[in-house]
Amino acid sequence: MAARIIDGKAVAARLKEQVAAEAGRLKREHGVVPGLATVLVGNDPASEVYVRNKNKTAEALGFHSVSFHLAADASEPEVLARVRALNEDRDVHGILVQMPLPKQVREEAVLETLDPRKDVDALTATNAGLLLSGRAKLISCTPTGVMLLLKEYGVEVAGANALVIGRSLLFGKPAAQLLLAANATVTMAHSRTRDLPAECRRADILVAALGKPDFVQGDWVEPGATVIDVGINRVDTADGKYRIVGDVDYAAASDRAALITPVPGGVGAMTIVCLMRNTLIAAAALAGLSAAI
Ligand code: NAP
Repeated sequence: MAARIIDGKAVAARLKEQVAAEAGRLKREHGVVPGLATVLVGNDPASEVYVRNKNKTAEALGFHSVSFHLAADASEPEVLARVRALNEDRDVHGILVQMPLPKQVREEAVLETLDPRKDVDALTATNAGLLLSGRAKLISCTPTGVMLLLKEYGVEVAGANALVIGRSLLFGKPAAQLLLAANATVTMAHSRTRDLPAECRRADILVAALGKPDFVQGDWVEPGATVIDVGINRVDTADGKYRIVGDVDYAAASDRAALITPVPGGVGAMTIVCLMRNTLIAAAALAGLSAAI
């Protein structure tokens, strides 16, 4: 039987409306307008598109939105000076420094400089530690999106065997923490995992975030499992164009899974809205308030 498709676009559209409504309330009742600043260093075309979309979405929600584009040869002190200025800017509540950075700018130096209260990507050590101790206000956007999708589709997380493939700071590690906090029995897999197919077959919730097109095979999926495909991979097509595929062989996996996220239109659709949600949460917290979202 074909799996039910998790419609990330529809869930993201509803979440966007909630964020807009709560932003409207904060403005009306407290005069707080959430502000997002993006910092792009260099001219990577994909990063340029990501940053533009983030600013456009912020504007569409009525947020204050500013963008800074530094040259590809910008020095680390220049980038850190920009981050410090944004830390001090009272109109800015969320700062997003687009990764990856050119090699002369150390990611850890940027993260050490960034005010954790404005760290809407939740990459600073402070926010990672707060997540570990169950006290985080700002949680990584894509893992948050995954948890919201599981909730929206009524997936029973407590007691489930959850497998997260990939252990990045951006996705795998925070996703595993969130699943653990929701009482799943969590396994983390990575490139040194001995028998990945066997680990997959034990999973009630299989989360793939390894960045390899169609890597997870259909017969690795336990019948009835929930499959969350985080991968975004560009694959060249015969006509000289490209298509976007996930980390899971979608057609084969959807014959066995009960629920599955498509790529595109699944997890990816949630990420940008979760970034706006984090900006709203940060704006409320910096004003001593709490966002009802
Ligand atoms: P990443 O930093 O690229 O790391 C990949 C992870 O996958 C590593 O932990 C690596 O293990 C593991 N891995 C690689 N090959 C493997 C294999 N053969 N078997 C098992 N594990 C393997 O990861 P990322 O930044 O989290 O990105 C992962 C994917 O998710 C990418 O396609 C990315 O585009 C996508 N993504 C999407 C969104 C979204 O908005 N939807 C957000 C973030 C990421 P080691 O640690 O051992 O090297």
